[in-house]
Amino acid sequence: MKFDYDLFVIGGGSGGVRAARVTAALNNKRVALAEMDRYGGTCVIRGCVPKKLMVFASEFSSIFTESRSYGWDVQKDNGLNWNFFSEKLSAEVSRLEHIYRNLLKNSGVQTFDQHAKVINEHTVELATGEQFTSEYILLATGGKPDLPNIPGIDHVLTSDQIFSLSTLPQKLLIVGGGYIACEFASIFTGFGSKVTQFCRGETILRGFDREATSLVANQMKSNGVDLQYGVNVIEINNTENSFRITDNYGRVQDFDRILFATGRVPNSYGLQNGSAGLSVGDKGEIIVNKYSQSSIDSIYAIGDLTNRKQLTPIAIKEAMAFVQTAFVNNPTCLDYSSIPTAIFTKPEMGTVGLSEEVAAERGPVDIFTTYFKPMRSSFADNEEKSFIKLIVCKNSDRVLGVHIVAPGAGEMVQMAAIAVKMGATKKDFDNTVAVHPTISEEIVTMQKPVRSS
Ligand code: NDP
Repeated sequence: MKFDYDLFVIGGGSGGVRAARVTAALNNKRVALAEMDRYGGTCVIRGCVPKKLMVFASEFSSIFTESRSYGWDVQKDNGLNWNFFSEKLSAEVSRLEHIYRNLLKNSGVQTFDQHAKVINEHTVELATGEQFTSEYILLATGGKPDLPNIPGIDHVLTSDQIFSLSTLPQKLLIVGGGYIACEFASIFTGFGSKVTQFCRGETILRGFDREATSLVANQMKSNGVDLQYGVNVIEINNTENSFRITDNYGRVQDFDRILFATGRVPNSYGLQNGSAGLSVGDKGEIIVNKYSQSSIDSIYAIGDLTNRKQLTPIAIKEAMAFVQTAFVNNPTCLDYSSIPTAIFTKPEMGTVGLSEEVAAERGPVDIFTTYFKPMRSSFADNEEKSFIKLIVCKNSDRVLGVHIVAPGAGEMVQMAAIAVKMGATKKDFDNTVAVHPTISEEIVTMQKPVRSS
């Protein structure tokens, strides 16, 4: 049977764009991609990229303060020029979107700027009603914010809107204790907003190494975040000048803006018309096997839509594995172990491998930690501490986890992740010469375990 395309991709985010252009680069492959919103997806348009630029912008307030301890005569600044920054941010996102569009065009991918849905195993229908057939269909529509059902929830912002605020909030409430909540609590504190953060549990960044996240939490508090545990919003009302919330303790407080960062769910809405027969999980995720193949052989799904690991580099790797599997006759699946990640809080956290809690449940471990004031902070009389922790298997000497809380922790953990992935032992770390004077030299100079379990 002759199809219109070899591959039809629905969703133009990191995963979808990568799969489309890599497939199109293969010999004579005809590829199409439909995207109803802006190209680049969550990462480029309303996630990693604008977030990281906000992190850079927010860091200057502490850099200005610190610079005085180094002899710089920085005059009292007037705070962040929000209009200047947000206009520049928006222009940068548009520039990057343009690059994504060009990447597709230059690879020969046919693009459709509209919603598409699956009709059957080889047919896709656009919002215009036009239908196309394809040998393979790849679903890569990403994720979307998940909001609890509480009165007044329509008044809150999610991470989709936080990048396009017309004014900088003076008083911001952030609900959630995950990546997004903690990163924006640090960012807006750096911008000069008064940030309150409600975390429903007893800890932020649940699931990560407890010792590392406690340090992040304590330092976020020292930096000015009013971080409160065990607090839930019960109701939100819109008053004349603010948003008024009631919490589970009956307290009533007013805020300029409220950001809910309470997790993300797969964005499968409208993807199928019901007759396609794709298996879908409780959260709307497309159920796939280890090769990202759905319950229908010719339809694959990758990225946040499959609710495996909601990270851009994972979606990209899944895209590359899909191309190998479907078009290069080389079935490829991902190894989801030891995925490094960074949380761009202040202080930043980088982590790879097992937390102490998980590692100790699996077998005996030695724990190496170092907790110190880096040279730069020390000279500036800044109280911010850095922390590095290695989790080492007692039996094999393998390093099972590396957790870093320090400026540049994300950059450091990328390197440590190679060693962990290769199965490096503590002896390998010890045999590595330190780079001096750096924060990361502590990774290879820790001598004695602080405890064993
Ligand atoms: P997370 O899953 O990381 O965190 C969700 C948070 O919301 C948790 O603290 C959770 O609490 C809390 N929560 C859930 N439901 C409610 C509720 N009804 N009321 C109050 N609190 C609630 O989600 P995020 O939205 O922060 O981020 C989504 C994903 O995006 C991340 O998992 C990550 O994969 C990705 N991401 C990655 C980044 C990076 O790589 N730097 C940056 C940003 C996002 P509890 O712990 O009690 O469940």
